Amino acid sequence: MPRPNILFIMTDDHAAHAMSCYGSRINQTPNLDRIAQGGMLFNNCFCTNSLCEPSRAAILTGTYNHINEVTTIGAHIDNRQENVAKILQRNGYQTAIVGKWHLGQGPAHWPTGFDYWNILQGQGPYFDPEMVCNGEKVQYEGYTTDLITDLSLEWLKERDKEKPFFMMYHHKAPHRPWDPDDKHVDMYEDIDIPTPDTFDDDYSNRAAAAGAAQMTVAEHLTERDLKQPVPQGLTPAEEKHWKYQCYIKDYLRCVASVDDNVGRVLDSLDDEGIADDTLVIYTSDQGFFLGDHGWYDKRFMYEESLRMPFIIRPPRSIAPESVNNDIITNVDFAATFLDYAGIDQPDRFQGRSFRPLLEGSTPGDWPEIMYYRYWMHLAHHHVYAHYGVRTHRYKLIYYYADALGQPGAIDESKPPEWELFDLDEDPNELNNVYHDPAYADIAAELRGELRRLQEEVQDAPYPAEQP
Ligand code: CA
Repeated sequence: MPRPNILFIMTDDHAAHAMSCYGSRINQTPNLDRIAQGGMLFNNCFCTNSLCEPSRAAILTGTYNHINEVTTIGAHIDNRQENVAKILQRNGYQTAIVGKWHLGQGPAHWPTGFDYWNILQGQGPYFDPEMVCNGEKVQYEGYTTDLITDLSLEWLKERDKEKPFFMMYHHKAPHRPWDPDDKHVDMYEDIDIPTPDTFDDDYSNRAAAAGAAQMTVAEHLTERDLKQPVPQGLTPAEEKHWKYQCYIKDYLRCVASVDDNVGRVLDSLDDEGIADDTLVIYTSDQGFFLGDHGWYDKRFMYEESLRMPFIIRPPRSIAPESVNNDIITNVDFAATFLDYAGIDQPDRFQGRSFRPLLEGSTPGDWPEIMYYRYWMHLAHHHVYAHYGVRTHRYKLIYYYADALGQPGAIDESKPPEWELFDLDEDPNELNNVYHDPAYADIAAELRGELRRLQEEVQDAPYPAEQP
């Protein structure tokens, strides 16, 4: 089989529970679902640090953030380091990235390894973006989700069709501040969107970190987020519900625009007759709280933020509509792309190709645990720095709650605390059992696994970690 094209579609902050193929209760994503219908849906794809820049760095470089040094939003990528685009480019792929980059601006941080790059600056706006195209600023007019698609389709049309391509097609949507386009602005207008089960979480039975976070629908959404002043005369519960409706509807409207545009790109593959020669992936840089635990945003190792949507349609897919429950992470993506391209990954890369999973056989030694670390202590939403591990059944988290000199983190330490969740008994993570004697053996075993994984990925534990 010739080397496949690789089309990597990524959005920003799109949670799996806002996709119909993942069983969303609140919206439909018919075009994204086409990818799952033609291939495989992963239920347990996790990010190794739930934040925009760090996740992008992990995907591009195939390494954890303490290796690629993009631990926080304050740390921009050193673009001299090896990345998957450079390797594919050296091996005969045409390479392109269009849309959100968010790994820094200027010659030291711009994309390297791409024949064509046309990127937003920083987060980028929802309308009329000024972009940087191969080092030159260009002003565009229109809705950014549409423009990123137009530019991607143009490049696909004009590429050298004799060579395989690797394209990163990266949307800004549905990142805050959730500005919909005219086409979708009235969507859901007369509908009351249901709230999640944990909407009124009071953060009891958890470490102090959950109650300290400043990202609640009730208190922390701004008038810019809500697009209108809060009506007078509402009870606190009514006001919170009203804010949730504003937030979630605009979020879902931005998702609907992404869905339409991904449909255009999938159609173009069909029209050109290359769908069977192309590995198509849809994912997002992390998950997001959609009112879950009363929150918006991400950062925490809790499920809604940790889980990435990940659907993939392999070339000449032989098992459409399949579902996989093995654990994979964003560090594994680069290894998988190289595997499909028939290229060995460099020693520096830390992931593992999950191509065998796509071909229907899970290797006997496939990992049943993953390692996570959030470094950006207290910045933006007052979330404590933490690390932890997740297995199929349990999740262990240690809030070491210290900046450790990381860029942009706030240097004000908090008392460290552990959390342990039994996800079979408590899928919503409402009951920390770390101090429950019935779980003492599990806690000790997972602390050992945490240490083993930190050694394996060459990270260091917090120097003053308490048992
Ligand atoms: Ca993000």
